[in-house]
This record gives sequence, structure tokens and C-alpha cells, in this order.
Amino acid sequence: MSVQTRPDLGSLPAYVAGRTVPGAIKLASNECPGGPLPSVRAAIAEAAADVHRYPDMGVTALADRLARKFGFPVERIAVGCGSVALCQQLTQALCVPGDEVVFAWRSFEAYPIVTQIAGATSVKVPLDSSHAHDLDAMLAAITPRTKLIFVCNPNNPTGTVSRREDLVRFLDQVPPHVVVALDEAYREFVADPDVPDGMEFARTRDNVVVLRTFSKAYGLAGLRVGYLVGPESLTEMVRRVYIPFSVNSLAQIAAMASLDAEDEMRERCAEIITERQRVADELTAAGYEVPETQANFVWLPLGEKALEFAEHSLANKVVVRAFAGDGVRITISTRAENDAFLQAACSFTG
Ligand SMILES: *Cc1c(COP(=O)(O)O)cnc(C)c1O
Repeated sequence: MSVQTRPDLGSLPAYVAGRTVPGAIKLASNECPGGPLPSVRAAIAEAAADVHRYPDMGVTALADRLARKFGFPVERIAVGCGSVALCQQLTQALCVPGDEVVFAWRSFEAYPIVTQIAGATSVKVPLDSSHAHDLDAMLAAITPRTKLIFVCNPNNPTGTVSRREDLVRFLDQVPPHVVVALDEAYREFVADPDVPDGMEFARTRDNVVVLRTFSKAYGLAGLRVGYLVGPESLTEMVRRVYIPFSVNSLAQIAAMASLDAEDEMRERCAEIITERQRVADELTAAGYEVPETQANFVWLPLGEKALEFAEHSLANKVVVRAFAGDGVRITISTRAENDAFLQAACSFTG
């Protein structure tokens, strides 16, 4: 008899990473341009001398630091191997087969994957006509089997946001036993004061979890470290399903050094925010529909032309991220790289 894998994994979608093409500009993975901050790079180099040791299994120094930064007891913090690992730990901690996980679609492509790995069922709620979360429809999608709702704010890949008033109304109506995970991977790029900091809700509501990452604004995508703040009993279970030592020692050191360099990070984000507006304005002037974005990328809802647009960009040495039949997501980068993209976009005749 041959090896028998789980039959339900045959339909598991593969995570599609942004492509890296030698010689082309990569605007496909929402990475930060400019490399790690100099002080962070130095801390990583110094920590390299200790990699023969196992990392701190509890990631205690970083968890303590985050607890102090946000004013939560450390028991409420879990650090993971990127926040995508925490998304998976969260579904594993909450769901048994047959349970339902609600999220918007299109949203972060890891949600259906981690849901299925946990044996749970994805309930995809279409975005509204402005490419934003339809929170009322998400409420209506809750059933007795619903355990978890992901709300990606700003949403990947559309960049759209849910604002305070709408989120409060939503959270007020979610049953208290259903967990709402606010995925704030792009929080540092939010410039609109009406977009609430999820920590506000984590402080006052015991079914809210906030997910953050060092991969985007902090520029540590290659090191894999993110964190979660949630109610203590849930956070404890999230830590229990952690793959031992998966947050490596360089990642722990680099994350702490990054927190020391927060002012520099904020300056970098401010540049991205300025460029984001310029790129959106130029695309609009060129005749594109550009949904409002508060993240470090823009979304072009090109529908059936998405793949063709991505091929045209690539022919112009710019890699973007296409979602077939739906749209194209373009990461905001340096002025020169954005200009290269704009030139490609303006010469697209599809
Ligand atoms: C990039 C991203 C993450 C997590 O990234 P990690 O590198 O795993 O920390 C989580 N959620 C969304 C929506 C993202 O775009």
C-alpha cells in the first residue's frame, strides 16, 4: 500500500509568492525598499556569533518589550515566525473540523490556506463595490459554527480600510464567543486618523486579537517575525501550538533593534505615504480606477486584464502581483522605482 496523505489536502491552495526576476524591479511582495536599517543590520551581524545556541523558546525579551510598548500584560502577547504563522496558530487554537472561519474576499491569501489546514471551512464574503470589507455582510455570514473572523485592515491586496465607527458597530454585534482577528500588517502606513489602532479594541474587548508583523514597515520580511495581542486564555493556546524555536535568534534580536529605531522607520513610512499619493494620482490621471489605499501598495481592479497588465509590466522590467481575473497589486517603493512602474502603466494599451 502506498503512502496515504490527508485526502482533504488535495484541494489546499498553494501560497503564491511575489516573483523575483533578475534584473527587474520587484514591486510584488509589499516589501520595504532600502534594506534593513543600519543599526538593525549591525545588531544582526553581532548576533550571528551566537547562532550555535538555540533561540529563547519563549521569545521572552521581545514579548516583554512589546508588552511594555503597548501596555499589556506579557501573557497577552504571542510572538510567531511571521504573522502568517500566527494566523495558522490562531485557527489551530480555535477550530475543529466543521468550524467556520469568515473573511473578506479578496483578502490575504493565507486565510483560506490556514483555515483548511486546521480542517475548518472558509466562508468568503465578497468585498463591497469600493473594494472594502462589507462588514454587514460579514455579520450576516456568522453561523453557530463560526469561530473566527479575519478583518484585514488595511486590506491586502486592495489597500482599503474599515473605519472606527463601522468597526465599533461591527464588533458590537459579533457574538462574544466569536474571535475577531484584526490583521494590521500595514498599520504603520495608515495616515487616516479615522482608521482605529486595533490595540484600542484589544484593550477593551475580550474577543479581539490584533496581528502585527516586522516584515513590512520594519523591513524584516526575510527574518520572519510577527506578534499577536489577544485575550490571555486564547493567547496561551496560540503559544501552545507554536512550532518550538521557530522564531529564530537573529529575528528576535533584529525585532528588538527595530523597535529601538522606530523614528527612522516612521520617516521611511512617511516617504512611502507621500509616494503612495503621487502614484495613485498619476494612475488616476492616466485613467485607471484606483481604490483609496492606506497601505504600502495600490490596487488596480483590472478584472480580466490583470494578467495582461502584469505581463506588460514585466516586459518593462517591473514585477507586480496579479490576481487572475481580479486585479493587480503594486508595492510602493522609491521614487525611481515607482516612476519605472508608472511609465509601464501609462504605456499599457490593453
Ligand atoms: C504580509 C502580511 C502578513 C504577514 O507577514 P509575515 O511576513 O508572515 O509576518 C500578514 N497579513 C497580511 C495581510 C500581510 O499582507
